Amino acid sequence: MILTVKSKSRTQFIDITSDIQKMVRTSGISEGLCMLYVPHTTAAITINESADPSVASDILMVLNEVIPWKAEYHHLEGNSPAHIKSTLVGASELIAVENGNLVLGTWQGIFFCEFDGPRTRKVNVRLIKEQFD
Ligand code: ZN
Repeated sequence: MILTVKSKSRTQFIDITSDIQKMVRTSGISEGLCMLYVPHTTAAITINESADPSVASDILMVLNEVIPWKAEYHHLEGNSPAHIKSTLVGASELIAVENGNLVLGTWQGIFFCEFDGPRTRKVNVRLIKEQFD
């Protein structure tokens, strides 16, 4: 399955927890795994606190400070900082599913991370049903 995400800024964290949870529910899978994969070189996926939106904006602020837009990059497309952030944050997450629910901590949410927006992006969602012998 594919989740389409539309970013509105150059860099942005988008909470996709409820979208993914809905896909898990719709699939009917009770126990298993949910694999999320971002097939982009200037975006990423991460899990962190979603209760306070300041956490996501603080992470983004620090990433933007540590990896500045202007430096002596060689990549001709001019978006090296977005590639670097994508590699640091990572392209995938694997989450357990129990009783039809994503197993996330109380404060955890799943964020799509845009580093070179605004763009229309994709998250590949794979649900694996647990097999019992
Ligand atoms: Zn590039």
